[in-house]
Amino acid sequence: MAFDDECDYLFKAVLIGDSAVGKSNLLSRFSRDEFHLDSKPTIGVEFAYRNIKVGEKLIKAQIWDTAGQERFRAITSSYYRGALGALLVYDITRRATFNNLRKWIDELREFGDSDLVIVLVGNKSDLGQKREVAEEEGRELAEREGLCFMETSALENLNVEEAFLQMINQIHEITR
Ligand code: GDP
Ligand code: MG
Repeated sequence: MAFDDECDYLFKAVLIGDSAVGKSNLLSRFSRDEFHLDSKPTIGVEFAYRNIKVGEKLIKAQIWDTAGQERFRAITSSYYRGALGALLVYDITRRATFNNLRKWIDELREFGDSDLVIVLVGNKSDLGQKREVAEEEGRELAEREGLCFMETSALENLNVEEAFLQMINQIHEITR
């Protein structure tokens, strides 16, 4: 947690999960209220900022996105360094992205801070007719691992704000 001129706290959070689960669109929705139908995996911003008021404090969240390295399992430890929060994302229409969560959780625990706040996010809830992972499965995994859980749609802007704010509020609780 660092200090900044205009805000009370500045902290880093990361987006993680398999390729094409919707990480970049969740971030563009949260930071700029934008969605892109055919976002290119390799054209990622390094990070985006958003200021949020929590109680009396102004918090500046610096949220890091991958530039597609997750396709090659090439996320390095520096990506996680200093992060206080993580949004771990899978796609409810692709079972494989849910099965791979084990690997991502292990990686987060290995490289992340010991009190890293993790929110598990099942994205693309608008595609209910193509669903391969029940909401209950996500909830159960989150409970077992001690994570928060939420299903979102970056497309329809459902629960996106809530998922990020849940993470930010929890970080604030821990660090104040
Ligand atoms: P990333 O590789 O995890 O960063 O995934 P992207 O954000 O690039 O999204 C991959 C694809 O899924 C793109 O074609 C997006 O338009 C699409 N997508 C992302 N979020 C949603 C969503 O909530 N619903 C639907 N239907 N499509 C989504
Ligand atoms: Mg991306």
